Amino acid sequence: MVRSLVQWTKTLSFPARISPNKSSKESVLSSPGSPTITPTPSNMSLSPPCKNEINNMKNSSLNEVNQIYPDPESEKAIMSSVVYCIHHKEGCKWSDELRKLKAHLNSCKHDAIPCIGKCGAQIPRVIMEEHLKTTCPQRRARCQFCNKEFTGHVFEQNHVGNCGYEPLYCENKCGVKVPRRHLSHHKVSECSKRLLPCRFCAKEFVADTLSAHHLKCGRVPVACPNRCDVNVLAKEDLETHLKEECTVSVLNCTYKDAGCRFKGPRHLMEKHLEESSQQHLALVCTVVTKQQHQITSLKSALSRLSLNYSGTLIWKISDFSDKMNEAKNKEGMELVSPPFYTSQYGYKLQASLFPNGNGAGEDSHISVYIKILPGEYDALLRWPFAHSVSFTLFDQSSCPEKACNIVESFIPDPTWKNFQRPSKEPDSLGFGFPKFVSHEMLKKRHFMKDDTMFIRVKVDPSKIVAV
Ligand SMILES: [Zn+2]
Ligand SMILES: [Zn+2]
Ligand SMILES: [Zn+2]
Ligand SMILES: [Zn+2]
Ligand SMILES: [Zn+2]
Ligand SMILES: [Zn+2]
Ligand SMILES: [Zn+2]
Repeated sequence: MVRSLVQWTKTLSFPARISPNKSSKESVLSSPGSPTITPTPSNMSLSPPCKNEINNMKNSSLNEVNQIYPDPESEKAIMSSVVYCIHHKEGCKWSDELRKLKAHLNSCKHDAIPCIGKCGAQIPRVIMEEHLKTTCPQRRARCQFCNKEFTGHVFEQNHVGNCGYEPLYCENKCGVKVPRRHLSHHKVSECSKRLLPCRFCAKEFVADTLSAHHLKCGRVPVACPNRCDVNVLAKEDLETHLKEECTVSVLNCTYKDAGCRFKGPRHLMEKHLEESSQQHLALVCTVVTKQQHQITSLKSALSRLSLNYSGTLIWKISDFSDKMNEAKNKEGMELVSPPFYTSQYGYKLQASLFPNGNGAGEDSHISVYIKILPGEYDALLRWPFAHSVSFTLFDQSSCPEKACNIVESFIPDPTWKNFQRPSKEPDSLGFGFPKFVSHEMLKKRHFMKDDTMFIRVKVDPSKIVAV
């Protein structure tokens, strides 16, 4: 085989310290016009001028060196240069004179020769066996799955990745390996991860969860446990059926909560309701009466809870002009405050107000009074009632420093009947101020704001003589 020098020039290298002929080296270096093949310790490649010159010898054999270097002395020197094998880098350890390289390459196991299998590739001897076995397109290759034989080329191009017998994992991740030719069948009809519609509700489920779904599926058909004439119904409709439709279900009378104890199937229930309307009405009346009592006792519990025990009442009277108009047309029209206590176990009091006046204040003043109502703890209290009482009409000026309230107060006269312990009958007698504030005065300042007035009734707690 003829090896081109181009290839060599790329790969030729020289051992650093091998210099079989010192004088030849010197002569090479000294002879003018000779190629400067210089073994250099640092870079064992041909120097550029030499490369160029040898490049000019493309496709020529070693013998042709004569024609370019007719000087036999130079040729001898060159051919005696000690070089490494061109496959030094691939691992060939050969090193000898240049003239012996060609012969070495004929047996160098790293040198490439045409493939024995005739695929046309150049293959290094050392990997020829491997090439013939595994990569040569002309080799015989046997598929491990279907056991058929192919040329390497056909095997790689057409068969690998297509063999019907190659086992593959199912793409649905069911964990099963199936030969390629059965894979689509598997995915459609065997795979545990394929989607299947529930035959009752038609929703789709992964095949291996379908039986669990059937246990919960509301559309699974069931029979009525009462064996009525409805044959089958969906499980989710059973409850409604039993409650509202099933003719055999035993039902409680609609008036069960009112006390009717009748039970029976649906068709008897209608008859019962028709026949027992009087009885049902009586039952309902009893319930209503009972509830009325409960409401009353709840109301009194609530009013006890919301009672004022502070001894001070702030009485808000809104829509006053309406009330004044009403009072002017209706003699003796009196507004009464919510009752309040002087302390938790003290006297029970109530204020009253005549918008159009009373007694000496009639038609000109508003009159205010305090009344003692019969209270829960009267038996334990000291009589007559002896605490001072004050009435205050608030000036609602937005500037508190400028506000000027009207205050009137009195100390009860113990001889007055009004301050004795009240009887159980509500006492209409009160004590107070018929001329509390004149109608003229009421229009001044800010006693009325948004048609609303505030009156404070305060019992002096220091004088409470409760037990
Ligand atoms: Zn070699
Ligand atoms: Zn080959
Ligand atoms: Zn195959
Ligand atoms: Zn599968
Ligand atoms: Zn279902
Ligand atoms: Zn039924
Ligand atoms: Zn009934």
